[in-house]
Amino acid sequence: MQTTGNQYLVKKINKSIVFDTIRRKNPISRAQISESTNLNKGTVSSLVKELIDDDLVYEIGPGQSSGGRRPVMLLFNHVSGYAIGIDLGVNYILTVLTDLEGNSVEEERTPLQNLSFDSVISALFQSIRAMIDRAPDSPRGIVGIGIGVPGIVDEKGTVLFAPNLGWKNVNLSRMITDEFHLPVIVHNEANAGAKGEHLFGSGKGRENLVYVSVGIGIGTSMIINNALYGGASGFSGEMGHFIIESHGKKCRCGNRGCWELYASERAFLEQAKSLSVPSTDSADLDLDRFIQAANEGNSEVIQLFNQIGEYLGIGLTNIVNTLNPELIIIGNRFAKAEKWIRNPIHRVVESRSLPYHRQPLKIAFSSLGTHSCALGASSFAISNFFSDMKVPVG
Ligand SMILES: [Zn+2]
Repeated sequence: MQTTGNQYLVKKINKSIVFDTIRRKNPISRAQISESTNLNKGTVSSLVKELIDDDLVYEIGPGQSSGGRRPVMLLFNHVSGYAIGIDLGVNYILTVLTDLEGNSVEEERTPLQNLSFDSVISALFQSIRAMIDRAPDSPRGIVGIGIGVPGIVDEKGTVLFAPNLGWKNVNLSRMITDEFHLPVIVHNEANAGAKGEHLFGSGKGRENLVYVSVGIGIGTSMIINNALYGGASGFSGEMGHFIIESHGKKCRCGNRGCWELYASERAFLEQAKSLSVPSTDSADLDLDRFIQAANEGNSEVIQLFNQIGEYLGIGLTNIVNTLNPELIIIGNRFAKAEKWIRNPIHRVVESRSLPYHRQPLKIAFSSLGTHSCALGASSFAISNFFSDMKVPVG
């Protein structure tokens, strides 16, 4: 019994190693897999056959050979299934459908006008249904759903506290699983955004980064040695609630003077209300109208972006002095105003942070536009699907 168990375990581990090798190095031949994994050719062949039967790998015509018969090459079948990634913002839902390499093939943005719990959930379900309907036929179908939520999420996918949505103890993972019968991964939106930027965006190839998601609130997340840093309970990264004004405005988190009250999209929009900017009939959110007004030279709007940018710089200075990071990526919706907030941010960080700490620092803006969170969320669903094939060791 023991032997059988061990053999099964060893086979599962080996299969996972072979699959990972194909995903990372494809196109690749069986002989090359054998060489790079130190598994014998017979083992590699039988595992590759299983992966082909699983629709996860396919063969293409002969590749390069140094002589003799040219080998058949193996490729990862990245369209053997699809994943859904969702950025549940406070004023919008962005849903993407990606293949198993994380490439977006469909997307939909739904503005959220009504923030009642039922209408947010109903809009969320509707957007998931739309992506399921639009998914191309594939052997595996939809392999999972990943969601980034602006709040504190536990490891079971319960949203413990999302102040900007007004949610407490919402078992979101269970609700979606019950409705769609698919695996669901719920994460904090900044974690999802950091993952998205690390895999596909401005943080690609970097081992360490801090991601600052500036939307209606501010969320932050750290990737340290290529892994998300969770803290003792997985809740690290609520830097949006750094206190920057000791007797400042009241925050929905229960505290006062939090950074996000002065440097977020909401902070901007609250003050922008009094500015005269022509409204448009488009479905654009308010921020887009103000960016356009700034681009057209509206000095009051430009001045307001400047002020919010300076407050962003203050919080970033605290991050720089605390973590001495090599890269900070500013993402989410407010990054769309890069042109108007870049200079004040740099000016404040340059003048207020400790020189030794800022020396290696690069401040970048998201290169995925507003898609970092949705793409990161989808990558969680994909990793979860692949981890089914893996056996945790150690
Ligand atoms: Zn707060």
